[in-house]
Parts: sequence; C-alpha cells; structure tokens
Amino acid sequence: MSSKVQITPIGPQLDLGEGPHWEAKTKTLYYVDAFAATVHRHVPHTNEHSHCKFKGNTVSFVIPVEGKEESEFVIGLEREIVHVIWDLKSDKPTATRVLSAAEEDRGGNRVNDGKVDPAGRLWTGTLMPGQGLDDAPFTSHLYSFDKGSSPKKHLSGIAVSNGLAWSLDYKTFYYIDSLKYKVQGFDYDITNGTINNERTVFDLKKNNVEGIPDGMTIDSEGKLWVAVYTGGKVIRIDPDTGKLLYILPIPSWEVTSVVFGGPNLDELYVTSANKTKDYPKDKFPQPGQTFKVTNLGVRGTSSRSIKLQ
Ligand code: ZN
Repeated sequence: MSSKVQITPIGPQLDLGEGPHWEAKTKTLYYVDAFAATVHRHVPHTNEHSHCKFKGNTVSFVIPVEGKEESEFVIGLEREIVHVIWDLKSDKPTATRVLSAAEEDRGGNRVNDGKVDPAGRLWTGTLMPGQGLDDAPFTSHLYSFDKGSSPKKHLSGIAVSNGLAWSLDYKTFYYIDSLKYKVQGFDYDITNGTINNERTVFDLKKNNVEGIPDGMTIDSEGKLWVAVYTGGKVIRIDPDTGKLLYILPIPSWEVTSVVFGGPNLDELYVTSANKTKDYPKDKFPQPGQTFKVTNLGVRGTSSRSIKLQ
C-alpha cells in the first residue's frame, strides 16, 4: 500500500453519514445522513453538493434505479423500501412511492445498510435499536427484495444488519452483523438469490481489531474493505485466508461505511458519524465528516444500481 495515501474531507459534517454509493455514469457520490432522513449528492469533479430531506425518522441507504435518468432512486426509509423521484437540486423529493416494507408488525425497528446483488435484487437487513447500538437485541433479520417485491427472509437472529458484498465470481456473499464482531461468508446462488453454508471469514476480536464492523465493500482483487465504527479506521482483509492486510487510519472515531469511486474506481469514499462523545478527540478531530482517500494503489468494484423491471 502506498505511503502517499491522502485523506481529503468532502461535503458537510454530518450526524450519521452512511450508505455511500458511487454512480459511475455521472461521477457522483450519493450517501445519507441517517437520522436527518436526508440524501446527500456530491460531485467531486465540480464540487457540486445538494441534498434532499424526506419525511420520516431515518434514511439508511440510497441506490439509483438502473436504466433510468439520473433522477430515480430507491431508499430505505424507516422500515420501508421507497421509490423516489428527485430533481437533484431541490431539498425535497418530487415524488415518493412505497414499494415494500420489512417487519411492519415490529414497531421501532428499521432497515439499515442496503446493497444490490449481481442479479439486481436489493438486500437489506433490520435492526431494533436498544438503549444504544451496543445493546440491540438479536431479533432482526436479513432480507432481499426482487424488483420491489415483498421481502424474502434469509437470516434470523441478527442484531445490527450492516455490511454486504459479493465476491468477484458471484459465488460468495459476505455479510456483517455488527454485534457479532465478524465478517461472515455464505455460498451465494445468483439464479435463485439464496445463501447457504455460513462461516466466519474474519473475526475482529481474534485479530485484536478494536471497534465494531459496519459497512463494507470489495476491491478488484477480491479483498474486503470494512469500516470500523468506534475504531477510527478502515481495514482491508483477505476473505480467503482470514488475514488482516492493511489498516487505514481515519481522522473520525465513528467510521460507518466505504465505497470505491472516482473515474478510475481508485478513490475510496468513507462516511462517518458524530454520535459518541467520549473518545480521544485529538486523534480523531473530524467526527461526522465524509472523506475521499486517494493514492491507495488499489482499484475497487462498481456500485450496482437497482433493477425495478
Ligand atoms: Zn452501516
């Protein structure tokens, strides 16, 4: 890894930055401020920035709709999967339409990180907030939604559903339930959209990695990049050997998620939060900031848009 790694703050400081998605055709980063129920749009090559506020308590992810103009999205709004039309300028959506919802019978819960699988299905899981993140009960689930359909349940006993990634050969699904402090691997069936044969591919505690695993992405060498919440870093791991390959220190304590972007997919975008009050502030002076990391010497994989037809 290059010693000339550069970390540049972009956009405003947020309360809980999350869910970054890189749209290649417009060279745009989309991400959310979760508890502000706001989607942010940042165009690095023009420094243009806009945001859109939704009616609700949380927005957890934002994903462009495949084959559409640059104005249609699917977002996770509280426990609903919502189709959105936004003109990219106004601070309000033009139109919203609920496509589906998870666990309508469970008050207080919500969907969290969401990603699209290699066949175009949306995957997202839930969480039921406890007093804090640390004590969420293990009563939530992981789901997929095919073209905005009703949810298909894949896993139970989840505390805080978070990072999702698929291997380069589409045979493995990687998943993070934050409070298990692990990255799990599963056999993935692209045709049927099913997962089986759960195993641990990386254990943070066994590798003495302090913090909670959150969002995740995969690079062009098949290695995983994991945001470490209350750990002030992103780690690169080898899911085949279970080895910790690299630690990227971030000047924010609560690192929430990562995505590769830029015209050559060689920039890493990192979101973070400003929730915790008790941490070494001198080492992590930019809470809630979003960052662009360059000169890593690694290329990522493309963010996938969602298929609705
Ligand atoms: Zn997350």
